[in-house]
Amino acid sequence: MRNYKKKNRKLKRDHQKGLSTGNKGVKVSCIGIDEEGKGIIDIKGKRISVPYLLEGETAIVDVTKKRNFTTAKVHQLETKSRDRVVPKCQHFYQCGGCQLQHMTYEAQSNYKEKLVEGLMGGYGKVNRIITMDQPYDYRNKIHSTLSQGKNREIISGIYEQYSHRVIPIDRCIIQDPRADEIIKSIRELMKSFKMRPFDEDTGQGFLRHILVKTGFTSGQIMVVLVVSKTIFPSKNNFVKALLKKHPEITTIVMNVNNRRTSVVLGNTEKVLYGKGTIEDTLCGQVFQISPKSFYQINPIQTEKLYNKAIEMAKLKKSEVIFDAYCGIGTIALNLSSKVKKVIGVELNKDAVQDAIKNSKRNKIKNARFYQGDAGEFMSDMAEAKERVDTLFMDPPRSGSDEKFLSSIVKLKPKKVVYISCNPVTQARDVEYLTKYGYKVEEIQPVDMFPHTHHVECCSLLTRKK
Ligand code: SAH
Repeated sequence: MRNYKKKNRKLKRDHQKGLSTGNKGVKVSCIGIDEEGKGIIDIKGKRISVPYLLEGETAIVDVTKKRNFTTAKVHQLETKSRDRVVPKCQHFYQCGGCQLQHMTYEAQSNYKEKLVEGLMGGYGKVNRIITMDQPYDYRNKIHSTLSQGKNREIISGIYEQYSHRVIPIDRCIIQDPRADEIIKSIRELMKSFKMRPFDEDTGQGFLRHILVKTGFTSGQIMVVLVVSKTIFPSKNNFVKALLKKHPEITTIVMNVNNRRTSVVLGNTEKVLYGKGTIEDTLCGQVFQISPKSFYQINPIQTEKLYNKAIEMAKLKKSEVIFDAYCGIGTIALNLSSKVKKVIGVELNKDAVQDAIKNSKRNKIKNARFYQGDAGEFMSDMAEAKERVDTLFMDPPRSGSDEKFLSSIVKLKPKKVVYISCNPVTQARDVEYLTKYGYKVEEIQPVDMFPHTHHVECCSLLTRKK
């Protein structure tokens, strides 16, 4: 009885706050946009994120409270922002791959600039964001998941947001259109080859994912077929038929992933056609890219980012450079002619091998690449009192770690150029560095991922005397 009373009191309280389950029709106005591109509203001092609501708009929203988690959805939009546009993609509200297609590109850019200003502005001056002239068709790495529709038809597309249901997508407006055509043809070929898509629940079926990587400058195309078994029935005929439809494909790789996992690529790979890698040109240098190596997904904006990062560093011919989280060596090799020596470190084995091949391919003699954890490597360098004049670091979304950051403080490079695809973790790491003797000189946001909430940010830090 006592418990019941307590519960009832709580329900009443929640209801009064306008936050109880299924509460319909709360009138709100949007006061900003959060880090995931959702509108921010304030209900009695509680900040709630509302998908697709824009700053300045008023709306009636439905609020749902489950345990301590409150969500809200637009029920009816009352006043529309001038920044609002009709999304170009019909899948926008289901897919979740893009979050900002309901905003003009100008408004997206302003939002990203403001986001970086909010997170990083306290440390130094934030430049205007570098935007993309034609913000479509840019993605050079395309991933499509195979599944079966209601009528057992083969579908390919991406997981619906917050679920494991595949929504069929024939055309994605931010991806290289050549990949869409190839994926469509593979689906048709599957029918004639009686190849079944993999079923996550039963573990039955063969083709799980298709990964397409395209070279922007070279035009080369790699198709990776991620399959569930090592035996590929009618392999040669399938490859022949695919090449007949798409002679533009330069290499086809089979990747076996027989684990119950949401990770796309498995460990075993077999080249079915061509070299197993593609090439692309960035800032005048040619790079080899393997199926598993990281390569920036927007080559046009990557050139702008690298040029800005290298310009910021004001490199001198006498300097020793360390490129941490170097991938296939793109930054290290691009700046190599300006300096005495450059060392790169990267965790992914395939990427390091690509980096070594890439230095030979571009006839670069002053670059060395090592495989390992950047934090471990940095701390060994600090221990050995190695010399580093300028550090370039470009960690994954999770940012760097204390081992790495504390080694920067010991090694004392005069300049740190920190490139990041997540300004939240960048701000956290920059906070650490500014506590230990560094100051931020310049911050440059770059729009590498138009129509998504992601923003790239390059910051220059220098060591105070
Ligand atoms: N600078 C490169 C790659 C940046 S992406 C470019 O511009 O293309 C981040 C890279 O960090 C990826 O290649 C990833 O494999 C690598 N990485 C992730 N964790 C790491 C770690 N602990 N140590 C070293 N490299 C790591």
